Amino acid sequence: QRVGYAVVGLGHLALENILPAFGRSRKSKLVALVSGSPQKLQKVAQQYGVRPENCYSYDTYDQLRDNPEVQVVYIVLPNAMHAEYTIRGAQAGKHILTEKPMATSSADCQAMIDACNKAGRKLMVAYRIQYEPHNRYVREQIRQKEYGAPKFIELFNAQQEANPNHWRHIRALAGGGALPDIGLYCLNTARFILGEEPTEVFAYQYSTPGNPLFREVEEVMSWQMRFPSGLITNCGAHYYAHESRRYRVLAERGWLNLENAFAYNGLELQRSYAEGQTEHRDQISLMEKDQFATEMDHFSDCVQQNKQPFTPGEEGLQDHRIMEAIYQSAQTGKPVSLPLITKLDPFR
Ligand code: NAD
Repeated sequence: QRVGYAVVGLGHLALENILPAFGRSRKSKLVALVSGSPQKLQKVAQQYGVRPENCYSYDTYDQLRDNPEVQVVYIVLPNAMHAEYTIRGAQAGKHILTEKPMATSSADCQAMIDACNKAGRKLMVAYRIQYEPHNRYVREQIRQKEYGAPKFIELFNAQQEANPNHWRHIRALAGGGALPDIGLYCLNTARFILGEEPTEVFAYQYSTPGNPLFREVEEVMSWQMRFPSGLITNCGAHYYAHESRRYRVLAERGWLNLENAFAYNGLELQRSYAEGQTEHRDQISLMEKDQFATEMDHFSDCVQQNKQPFTPGEEGLQDHRIMEAIYQSAQTGKPVSLPLITKLDPFR
């Protein structure tokens, strides 16, 4: 028995990645669609065999309450809309899978967590990297201290956006620029592979004057994070540079380098390690999986077996708290401390 999903918002990610991924999932099925465009709804519903009575607008969204076929609502809307549609979805009795970033403020994240708790529904943030085999492999190598203790990590994510009128460039809808959209991958992945939480951040922010793309949101955010183990990360997110999504973990006796680390496919993992006086370098090949099908199936498992998702709302809340500290540091020019959080089970 597969878990029934309603997908909310039929933009690029939904049309190009999420809807096709249902065909590769084992535990999740598409049963309903929510969109503001009746024409798009009709076309997409026909393409995916969704019945007309299972097509909703943003106004009729709350009527999902009366549709027992839908167990999960997957929110794929502009960032600032995630909170409202999570809260309304939970109130309609549905479990919620929301796209990243979870919201546009930590206060909204908390309200989303509270609403889902109150309704007794599950909440998961779609951090697909945490379900991706290469990134999980790196995390396991760090956990086992395969090359000794990790000492330094550099992560960056760069891409170019072209349309200044797109919601990603409007602060009220996006919440910020390069940081919450693509820098979040650096932040969340660092926390994920290390299994510890940063205690201090220091950041620089810049936007080219006069570029209409960056009237409201930042072009580049560059920041460092200090972790309790003594490890330091260097992170960078750029909205106006040739696409590049990679990180490198330096450990005592080796390094791991993941190219296309945050991409949907084409990830390339290289390593270098020392054995006595000899240095080895090779490539590690791992099977790729459809990242969207994998994360949806994980959530379906959680719903069916009443388990806590691997990336619950609290995971998104923590990222937002850290992003708020990063903005504060960039604005004040000073490091910002974060409360010491000891993960009970860092490698859950
Ligand atoms: P998009 O602009 O292509 O799609 C957004 C959809 O929301 C569109 O269908 C649009 O019509 C609809 N919408 C409803 N109300 C709107 C409003 N007031 N203003 C603008 N659009 C409105 O965006 P996208 O790239 O599909 O991103 C959607 C979400 O998915 C974002 O939160 C984004 O961060 C996230 N995302 C995640 C990944 C990932 O790898 N996990 C990748 C891309 C995007």
